[in-house]
Amino acid sequence: MKKHKAMVVKKGQHKLVLDAEQHQLPIEKISKFAIKVIKRLKQAGFEAYLVGGGVRDLLLGKTPKDFDVSTNATPEQVRRLFTNARIIGRRFKIVHIVYTNNDIIEVTTFRGGNANKMQVTRPFSGDGKAYDVQVTDQGMLVRDNSYGKRIEDDAQRRDFTINAIYLDIQTGELIDMHGGLYDLSQGVIDIIGDPETRYREDPVRILRAARFSAKLGFALSRRTLESIEPCAQLLYQVAPARMYDEVNKLFLTGHAQASFRVLSELHLFSRLFTLSEMLLNSSSCRDLLNYAFASTDQRFHEGKCNKPHFLYAIILWNEFLWDFYEVRDDLMFSANNINYKSLISFLASSVVINQYSITAMPEQIIRSIALLWRLQFLLESREPEKYVKETTSYNSFRAAFDLFKLRAQFDSSLQSRVEFWQPYYDACKSEAERRSREDRPYKDDRRGGRRNRRDRDRDRDRDRRDRGSSDNGQRDSEMIYESSESISKARNWRKSMNLEP
Ligand code: ATP
Ligand code: MG
Repeated sequence: MKKHKAMVVKKGQHKLVLDAEQHQLPIEKISKFAIKVIKRLKQAGFEAYLVGGGVRDLLLGKTPKDFDVSTNATPEQVRRLFTNARIIGRRFKIVHIVYTNNDIIEVTTFRGGNANKMQVTRPFSGDGKAYDVQVTDQGMLVRDNSYGKRIEDDAQRRDFTINAIYLDIQTGELIDMHGGLYDLSQGVIDIIGDPETRYREDPVRILRAARFSAKLGFALSRRTLESIEPCAQLLYQVAPARMYDEVNKLFLTGHAQASFRVLSELHLFSRLFTLSEMLLNSSSCRDLLNYAFASTDQRFHEGKCNKPHFLYAIILWNEFLWDFYEVRDDLMFSANNINYKSLISFLASSVVINQYSITAMPEQIIRSIALLWRLQFLLESREPEKYVKETTSYNSFRAAFDLFKLRAQFDSSLQSRVEFWQPYYDACKSEAERRSREDRPYKDDRRGGRRNRRDRDRDRDRDRRDRGSSDNGQRDSEMIYESSESISKARNWRKSMNLEP
């Protein structure tokens, strides 16, 4: 980024305008759809700017994840201008303009002014829908559809200075109202306005601060950092579904390892996941997480997909295992016949449901986490040949084996089973690749390359099995019993986690 002399000192509230010659932002890298949207809004007589992550990342020489547009047109006015627009959210209305291959341009109306404001007692109160702005008695902004007329008002309502730089694509001017360009050049994340008030208004800003710090390798300014601790408990007031989205952004977009480090430094990781203090402090548990996050990041950078259920399964694995061994040990002394399948399902549900109260995972994700855990017991079996047919019949077999391999990095007793299952994994992978190749003509030309009935039936059966409607349940329970009978195994595991002397 070319430095302008005015950027050498942070200008605070002072508005800084740079022309194209001075900032040299690569305009050619802006999405053609974002340009289309801005042009159409301007032709209709509205103001419109590119703002947020798109501008920030281009200035840093990175490829933006998406492009955000800010305008003085109301959501309804925007929708009327575009046939492919839909208004998203009721409490904070924005407009998504959807183009082919899922290119979405997010258009927000200038926020500003506090007209028509109401105080509510609960974050998700149904009262006061007629009010544009709703604030809880703790200062949380639970509805904000009050629109401002000026870009200055809008900038004031954005989260960090580096996210409040506006680009006027017609004049090429870059407008920086809060010293964001200076902070970009210094590698600093600085919240706009009074930090505590801003975190109270929306505690998710705490996680956003951590995310940008991890993603960009930036430091938090002192004031941005200092108010995090006193406000961190407010995160529990955020809608769990929104927390789920934020956690995915933290851990599935290529900077999981850095997110883990930053969140741990800020004492926030333990607020996001229900891992007990004891496990969080165990160096073996942290090593496993670090290793898993590094491999998640690597997959992301190789263009491979990372799935949320895998993320949760690995993060909560030791918590689940801890509960399993605790309860199993107790039961072994008091009961003759333990139904391991029920025990595992019960414990998996209880770990996942605890987590659900913080990050509301969709139902399918919950089922998939529990299945990945259940499959660990099959993979661990001392007589794996007995379970080949069943284990490989699950769609989740490959993910389960990936999880197993991660675990084996830290538990040498699993190594022989890794060697046993690896050829089956390779075979399943080649088969999946073959089928995805054969699927392509099917998608492109429905008459041409229909998949054969056998493949379709097999997929349907696998899906059904993964959803838990398998009639192999009985065999599962036998296997689980066989693979987990030894008490010494639990001891060894606790030892390896530094949880037992
Ligand atoms: P990225 O898209 O790379 O994750 P981003 O900064 O573009 O980063 P978005 O979630 O797309 O993040 O939001 C776009 C912009 O909207 C932000 O840059 C910021 O200006 C504003 N914004 C988003 N969330 C908040 C928030 N919770 N409080 C205040 N402003 C916000
Ligand atoms: Mg964005």
